[in-house]
Amino acid sequence: MKIAILSGKGGTGKTTLSVNLFSFLKKATLIDTDVEEPNSHLFLKGYDLLEEGVYKKHPVVDDEACDYCGACGNFCNFNAIIPAKKKVLVFQDLCHDCGGCKLVCESGAISYKDKEVGKLYHSTIAKNKKFIYGNLNVGEVSGVRIIESLKEISKNEEILLIDSPPGTSCSTVAAIEGVDYCIICAEPTPFGLSDMRMVVELLRAQKQNFGVVVNKSNLGNDDIYQYLDEENIELLEKIKFDREFASILAEGKILINHSEYFRNKMKNIVKKVMGDNCDQ
Ligand code: SF4
Ligand code: SF4
Repeated sequence: MKIAILSGKGGTGKTTLSVNLFSFLKKATLIDTDVEEPNSHLFLKGYDLLEEGVYKKHPVVDDEACDYCGACGNFCNFNAIIPAKKKVLVFQDLCHDCGGCKLVCESGAISYKDKEVGKLYHSTIAKNKKFIYGNLNVGEVSGVRIIESLKEISKNEEILLIDSPPGTSCSTVAAIEGVDYCIICAEPTPFGLSDMRMVVELLRAQKQNFGVVVNKSNLGNDDIYQYLDEENIELLEKIKFDREFASILAEGKILINHSEYFRNKMKNIVKKVMGDNCDQ
């Protein structure tokens, strides 16, 4: 079963939820696809560490072979290759690595070059517990390629948790593609509700099954519960804010190892989402 944990904005407790659900399960793999700002690794200390680069191709034009016919520029939907009068300009960051410009270049002037866009870090946390996170290189604009790599290498995992990027960008869409269930982590505040609505719209458009965990449930107001009720969205669990939780998290510790309350919350969520489908 593949489960994505996502939120409308950063700071809602999405990573706390991801690492604690992962820690609660006896057998699971967690991938952190929030590649612009990964932080699950601050809580999960593993062994057998392995680092690998993630690469993306971009076109390189041989000026001498090019006859400036313009075909590559006409083909590219992303304005990543623009034939000017005496030079074909390539904008690497805009290139989606589709391979099309090379196919339409009858002069054979286009070849492709690899560029590292980020890295993956694999580790083992315990027996049957794997953790992989991605990190986008500074200066790169899109983490989608890294997310696709994370999804590809974990596609056969029996129980997969995905710590998704916040918001509703194309990175989030890439992270939730093909999952069985999504857990939205939200706060009961006006901003929290507004951001959550956008995630709900995205998940409905993608025809995803989902439920909501309300974090810091003792703060804010009741609007979020009214919304969930009106929209017939399952409230999976309410988790209170507690200063003690904040201090435990600040030390990089896993909450379920220090709070029976939090452990029980994870147990309830797992039961509702996975039923008998898990090994706790
Ligand atoms: S399609 Fe090939 S020959 Fe034509 S402008 Fe582009 S690189 Fe040059
Ligand atoms: S590979 Fe595709 S996206 Fe990149 S420049 Fe060529 S046509 Fe455009």
